[in-house]
Amino acid sequence: MIPDFKNTESAFRIRSTAELQRMKLLFQLMGSYELTKIGTFLIKAALKWHFPIKKLIKHTLFKQFCGGETLEECQEGMEKRYHSGVLSIPDYSAEAGSNPDYAAAFEEIKRSIYFVSQHRSCAFAVFKASALGPSAPMEKHGISPLRPEEQSLLQQTKQYMQELCTYAAQLRVKLLIDAEESWIQDWIDEQVIEISAHCNREEAWIYPTLQMYRRDGMQRLQHYERCSRELQFKPAVKLVRGAYMEKENARAQQLGYVSPIHTSKADTDACFNKGLEYCVQQGIALCAGTHNENSTGLLCSLYAQKKEDVYFAQLLGMSDNLSFVLAENKFPVAKYVPYGPVELVMPYLFRRADENTSVTGEVGRELRLIRKELERRK
Ligand SMILES: Cc1cc2nc3c(=O)[nH]c(=O)nc-3n(C[C@H](O)[C@H](O)[C@H](O)COP(=O)(O)OP(=O)(O)OC[C@H]3O[C@@H](n4cnc5c(N)ncnc54)[C@H](O)[C@@H]3O)c2cc1C
Repeated sequence: MIPDFKNTESAFRIRSTAELQRMKLLFQLMGSYELTKIGTFLIKAALKWHFPIKKLIKHTLFKQFCGGETLEECQEGMEKRYHSGVLSIPDYSAEAGSNPDYAAAFEEIKRSIYFVSQHRSCAFAVFKASALGPSAPMEKHGISPLRPEEQSLLQQTKQYMQELCTYAAQLRVKLLIDAEESWIQDWIDEQVIEISAHCNREEAWIYPTLQMYRRDGMQRLQHYERCSRELQFKPAVKLVRGAYMEKENARAQQLGYVSPIHTSKADTDACFNKGLEYCVQQGIALCAGTHNENSTGLLCSLYAQKKEDVYFAQLLGMSDNLSFVLAENKFPVAKYVPYGPVELVMPYLFRRADENTSVTGEVGRELRLIRKELERRK
């Protein structure tokens, strides 16, 4: 049965009216494309010139979309959601600028895996390969020969990935690996298949991500499933539509190749839904990362066929109507909980602000629901 995702009473049960008012204001501001662009520009400038705006950010954007600056700061919110049936996925979202500290990111992600193993409120751990090493050698891999220093950087990234995955499997923690830009994704997928052959032998612990906004989304999913049979490991995936559409299309246009992204939203939607059906039919463990109501509804109807190893997931601060209504109807659901020092999660926050402008329509979705609930509470 498909739950009623318009039920705002369930969606916002854990939010106070004051919180909803704050959210309404924030989404209204982000709804203006011009304001978001100007705001982003001003925040970047203020951070660059060390103006004291950290507090302002922490009480607005950060509060809406992040769990805290540290795992410990996230804990209270995680427990609160847990009591409403919504689990968490702590996501170290620090994206250091010009001088990234990959070793520090590795240590923090390792800590997050341990944290997940110790907290009933958490469903998965997660990481991005690009947090563990530079993207340039990943991009070059398989296209042109790598210089020895590039080889060793890639080797180091691979080693970090292997260590994190082995650690997660040892602690019996399910670990998601995010998908990124198409030009580095082949390298990431290659490593993940090799790692899964070891770590997913008995149970599915490692979940690579497949982006179904790619024209070859289904082929990649089928290829992964074939590899799991040939190498005899348990298949598990996170399915998403994909976050880098503009960047992908712009690069393709600039370099004169055909964009890997579907030409219409309808094609992406069809591909994503086909992917969900395929995972259920093939018995692939699944985490569906989506805010799309139709796809979520589809997976609810498919759920009767495959109750084990299916998860729904949304991002913190968005689509509470899906998360909390799913939980109320006893579906397994979790929120990504981005965390990290305010200065380092800014790129993540800018992406959220971008995604929530009126251009994408996401803001309309959130605002409508918040307004409806405020009206109901009057
Ligand atoms: C829990 C979770 C984890 C995520 N992890 C990742 C990840 O690892 N990697 C990643 O890339 N993204 C990730 N995302 C982001 C995700 O890919 C989407 O950007 C976002 O969720 C919006 O898509 P949607 O399924 O919620 O649905 P909708 O809001 O219905 O769809 C929006 C999406 O459709 C696609 N789209 C929009 N217009 C067009 C068009 N004209 N032509 C073709 N396609 C179009 C784009 O992918 C766009 O983001 C994650 C999202 C969630 C909720």
